[in-house]
Amino acid sequence: MTKQLKCDLHVHTNYSFDSNVTMEQYARRAAELGLDAICFTDHIDINSHRNTFATFRFDERLREFERVKKQFEGQVTLLLGFEMGEPHLHPKETAFLRSLKPDLIIGSVHDATALDGIADRRAYERAYDRLVRQMTEDGDFDVLGHADVLRKWHDDYVEDFEFLCGTLSQCVKRGIVPEVNTSSMRKKGVPTMPSAEAVAHYVSCGGRYVCVNSDAHVLSQLDEFPLVRGSLPEGAELCCFVGGRLCVELPTKSEA
Ligand SMILES: [Zn+2]
Ligand SMILES: [Zn+2]
Repeated sequence: MTKQLKCDLHVHTNYSFDSNVTMEQYARRAAELGLDAICFTDHIDINSHRNTFATFRFDERLREFERVKKQFEGQVTLLLGFEMGEPHLHPKETAFLRSLKPDLIIGSVHDATALDGIADRRAYERAYDRLVRQMTEDGDFDVLGHADVLRKWHDDYVEDFEFLCGTLSQCVKRGIVPEVNTSSMRKKGVPTMPSAEAVAHYVSCGGRYVCVNSDAHVLSQLDEFPLVRGSLPEGAELCCFVGGRLCVELPTKSEA
């Protein structure tokens, strides 16, 4: 059996509007933690609140990535990706990101302005679920980001388990890997997004690969809940992405 990869594929650096951590700081910490790989997935959001695509320093970030990658060669594999908000609504910009040949693109619903005016909590949550479903049906991305992120945002969150399972079935159909996002666990008693039960459903309908991601915005959050990796439902296998391709082992230098 291949060794289960220790990767954190959802990490925000100072190229995201909401983080100040440098790639070098993360790389050093990842090496200390003994991680196999981490992926920098900075925000690309295009909505009425912000447009980080328009001002994103693509070239500078790539240069910095190459520099740090070289510095930490042999210690930890560094990967470069994006977390794209609503990729299905921005196909042109998403195609541009693809043209840069990132290791992976996470698709996430961040912009909920379409739900403005829905006062009822439950109705809002179900409408949000539908946005995630729509994105999963139509978007070009590799990893589904925090499928039920309202779990983290609403203290009184009530999930629609069946609908979430339907979205995860859609992941199976489209070959999208759902991440198990652990950032919700920073709130006491809140499970991962999605929960272990939902991941078990994903496996039961043919899904196999998942990744366990911290969604770190500060250094101490990197791979904050490593035990989650060991407690995945039976049949779920950890994976990584290199050059947009799913893998369960990191390529050796001669293959890369
Ligand atoms: Zn996100
Ligand atoms: Zn994120």
